[in-house]
Parts: sequence; structure tokens; C-alpha cells
Amino acid sequence: MNRVIAHYQELALKGKNRPWFLRRLVRNVRAALAGLDIGDVRTPMGRLEIVLRSDAAWNEVSERLARVFGVANFAMAGRTTLDVQAMGDAILRDLPTEQVASFRMAVRRADKRFPIPSPDVERALGTRVVGARGWKVDLDRPAMVIGVEILPGEAFYHFGKIRGSGGLPTGTAGRVAVLLSGGIDSPVAAWRMMRRGSVATLVHFHSYPFLSRTSQEKVRELARVLTRYQLHTRLHLVPFGELQREITVSIPGSLRVVVYRRMMVRIAERIARRAHAQALVTGDVIGQVASQTLENIAVIEAAASIPIFRPLIGMDKEEIIADARRLGTYAISIVPDEDCCTLFTPRHPATQARSGEIEEAERSLAVAELVERALAETAVERFDFPVVPSAIAVGPH
Ligand code: ATP
Ligand code: MG
Repeated sequence: MNRVIAHYQELALKGKNRPWFLRRLVRNVRAALAGLDIGDVRTPMGRLEIVLRSDAAWNEVSERLARVFGVANFAMAGRTTLDVQAMGDAILRDLPTEQVASFRMAVRRADKRFPIPSPDVERALGTRVVGARGWKVDLDRPAMVIGVEILPGEAFYHFGKIRGSGGLPTGTAGRVAVLLSGGIDSPVAAWRMMRRGSVATLVHFHSYPFLSRTSQEKVRELARVLTRYQLHTRLHLVPFGELQREITVSIPGSLRVVVYRRMMVRIAERIARRAHAQALVTGDVIGQVASQTLENIAVIEAAASIPIFRPLIGMDKEEIIADARRLGTYAISIVPDEDCCTLFTPRHPATQARSGEIEEAERSLAVAELVERALAETAVERFDFPVVPSAIAVGPH
């Protein structure tokens, strides 16, 4: 069993773009597995085949492959000739030694030139497994599925598939700039967009030195987790405390949250344009907090001139938390920290900001100058996966 066979369902739907998507996927798989003991990556008939050069490579290969977008599922696999006897021999040789409660054969004849129909191959191979091991056949709820994939000139067999991340390969859907707080929602929003093929540039607003450095440390941790999926990330750290302080001087308390958000959007848009990102992304969920009413969302959106995507807008908290656990950001997000937007804001902000009122209030602010100043003081950090040892020391911290 010195291969991995991976499937990429959704890609198959992409018509004329399919070769391009596939090349991208192969490139991403190679990059994700860099440094591991693997050989060729091939694309036999609707699948990916990765050659493992050592048994030891499998654990790390499977962990990394599970995060590559575009991979629907994968399995450690063996390769054999197009001969039912040889298939059976190979399967019996490689089957795990431990007892299994039940099994079923699942043969896919992807190459119809192979003359024997799948059910007949299943019966023949199933009979051999029962004869050799005495395992029980269960077609509905088997403990193990023994898969065989019949392709031109070769067949692969495996003993159970692992679920992949699904979605589309990173880099097939442009770039977006994600407003990343240290909370639960925005990392999930980033991941949802990444899963559709977009590369996410991260933008975080912090209130250091007015508040602690915790939020920056959290977003670095989050950036590291997200980078395991997209492999290269830039995190922009924008100092926001001074700007907030100036806002408190001229903006009534009840409007501050909306004005903060509009300033964030303006600054993030500039960063997005420079990074060639075509949209902003936030973790807004309708009705969750005061700034996330329809009225306020509309007023905040009006400060941008590129689209703002909110992939979580209609989700329940439980669904978002399930995603956060799956992708690996939940434990980081729940570490307590001081949210920059509670700085200098009242407990009960306006839930229905009117655009006229906000624009009027903003007239007393030097908006353009505040944006420029924040941009000038923004620090950029780079994250890569796999981590290149020398890069750790060189990074601009
Ligand atoms: P999250 O869990 O993502 O923090 P939230 O439920 O706390 O979201 P808000 O604090 O209103 O809601 O933030 C809404 C969205 O605004 C966030 O999801 C994020 O995209 C953006 N945002 C808020 N604060 C910041 C920040 N300090 N830096 C960058 N983006 C932010
Ligand atoms: Mg938050």
C-alpha cells in the first residue's frame, strides 16, 4: 500500500476549466506535501494518485491532505494489475490483520473497457475475503468498505476513505481581504471563502497600546491555522486605538461602533486594492450584535466601494462553532481578550444608524487623513506552511 488515491468530485463539474482546476489542485497538493517522503503525483482518470516513498509518510500526508481544498476524499491505496485474481491476492496480502465486524466490496469500473461488470468483481473478491478471513458481509452498515477502482491499465484498492476539505482548489477564485478579529466568527468566514477557492489576505485592527497585545497574538495564531489550508498568508496589523480616541472626541457614543466599522472598511478596502483583492469579507451574522442589524450593515457597507461578503450571515452560532472546531480555530478564538470595538463605546450603541446622521457626524472627522495615517503605521507579517525553518527568524515582527 504505497499510494494515496484522492477524489475531487466537484471539480468534475467545471467543464472547460477542468484542466486548469486540476493543474492547480496538483500544484497545491505538491506544495502542501512539501518536505514529506513522496514521489510522483499523477492524475489517472478523475483521480489523484500520490506515491508514498515510505510507510512513515502516511500519517503526515493524510493530515495535510485533509486540509487541501478540492480534495473530496482520499485513502491509502495499493496498485495492482487488471486481473481479478491479482486484485484478490493483493487485497488479501494487505488487509489489516485485526478482525473486522463486517465489510462490503465497492468496485468502481471507471474504465468500461474492462470486460467484467462491477457486481461480478465484487462477488468474486468478496467471496475470497470471506473465505480467507471469515468476515461477515454487511451491505448497509459495513465496518469496512473495501474499495476497488478499475482504471485504464491498472486498478487501485483501499480499505476506507477519509473525508477531505471539499470545495475548490486555493487560487481558483481570486483574492479577498478578510477583516479578522480574534473572535469565533471571522476565522470561519475566512475559511468558508478559502474553501471556495479564494486566497484570503487578513486584516486585523488592534488597539495596542490602549489595550493589551492579546488580540494581535490571537490573530497570529489564527493566521497560522488558516495558513495550513492556503499555505501562504499575509496578515496586516492596523493600529486603531489612536483613531478610536479621535473618534470619541467628535462622535456621539451611540454612533461610535458604526463609525469605527466604517473606518475599518475604508482602511481594509485600501489594503485590499493594494493586495489585488477584489472584495472584503467579514464574520457578520444577522442580528447577533448591535452593529449587525440590517440598518447598520447597510450604513457600514456604504463606506466601501468594493463588495463586502458575509459568508456567515444566515448561520446559527452552533453551526459556526462546529465549523470553527473542524477547522481548528475554536480553542484560539475563545481565549479572552479585549475587543477593540468596546474601547470608548457605550454599552448600548445605536441599532438603527441612519446614513444621514452618520455622514453628518463624520463631517467632523479628518477621514482621509485618519485612513492614511493608519495605513502608514500598518505592519505586515507573512505566514507559510509548511514552516520553512529559516523564515521563522527573518520574519518582520
Ligand atoms: P467575530 O466573532 O468575528 O469577532 P463578532 O460576532 O464578535 O464577530 P463583531 O465584533 O460585531 O461581531 O464583528 C463583526 C465583524 O467585523 C467580524 O466578524 C470581523 O469581520 C469584523 N471585525 C470586528 N472587529 C475587528 C477587528 N478588530 N479587526 C478586524 N476585523 C474586525
Ligand atoms: Mg468580535
